[in-house]
Amino acid sequence: MRLFEKVNELQSYLSAFQTKGLTIGLVPTMGALHAGHLSLIRHSQQDNDITVISIFVNPTQFNNREDLEKYPRDVNKDIQKLKSVHCDVAFIPSEQDIYPKGAVSKKYDLAGLDQNMEGAYRPGHFDGVATVVERLFEIVKPDRAYFGEKDFQQLVIIKRLVDLKKLPIQIVPHPIERSEKGLALSSRNLRLSKTDQEKALAIYHSLSKVRKELNNYSPQELKEKIRKQFENEPLDLEYVEIVNSDNLHPLQNWQDATHARIFMAATISGVRLIDNLSLF
Ligand code: AMP
Repeated sequence: MRLFEKVNELQSYLSAFQTKGLTIGLVPTMGALHAGHLSLIRHSQQDNDITVISIFVNPTQFNNREDLEKYPRDVNKDIQKLKSVHCDVAFIPSEQDIYPKGAVSKKYDLAGLDQNMEGAYRPGHFDGVATVVERLFEIVKPDRAYFGEKDFQQLVIIKRLVDLKKLPIQIVPHPIERSEKGLALSSRNLRLSKTDQEKALAIYHSLSKVRKELNNYSPQELKEKIRKQFENEPLDLEYVEIVNSDNLHPLQNWQDATHARIFMAATISGVRLIDNLSLF
């Protein structure tokens, strides 16, 4: 595996492949890698000649300083994991390389996709995400880029970014990887004790239960049932939302969408977790 920290060194390495017409897949991450990230890498390896992973904890997408400071980082362990899956290239830039003019977000017209859920609870988050992803696209110039459905709203927003900027990049979604018991894998799980990880399963269990109750309740009623249920759970529910998967509009009636998803954010022992599930 080749490791690059400098933009120009990465670009001159990749240009040799690009001039030969070989395809490049990019997997943007913030590190503290887990099996979810590694399966995105495998997905890219199946589709492309070269796979590049980027590891960069992007300050502009954190609206909370403490969350940024406590974000888990372990580059040496990450490199070992990347070698074990034979990733071709790791790009681990400094803040100066990504933001030569200072770490500030650009503003994007995200067509309202950032108005609810993560966008509403983490103001400025998606402008920060779009800024760093646009910069990574500009540096790597991938043919395809891989994003997990774990961050489904982010995935939809990145598709919007690609349309907005008319970028010749295919955005490839990847399903959520879970623990055996159903907890969505996340770098933040590293901050949870074993007991808290067990308790956090309540998120997946309540999302799954909704799937079985679609015929008996409206979206509004199901959200209310979850809010009630979480009053007795050791997790603080931040939001539960059921939306049209295509435009992320909250759903009033099941008939209003061809595809729907349920989303949740909850905090346990100061660690904020998100998850979502396709309903139909
Ligand atoms: P992160 O390092 O958390 O920014 O995530 C980097 C990429 O990995 C994003 O596209 C995430 O959606 C994706 N990802 C993170 N966790 C999972 C998971 N459990 N399953 C699938 N993709 C994931």
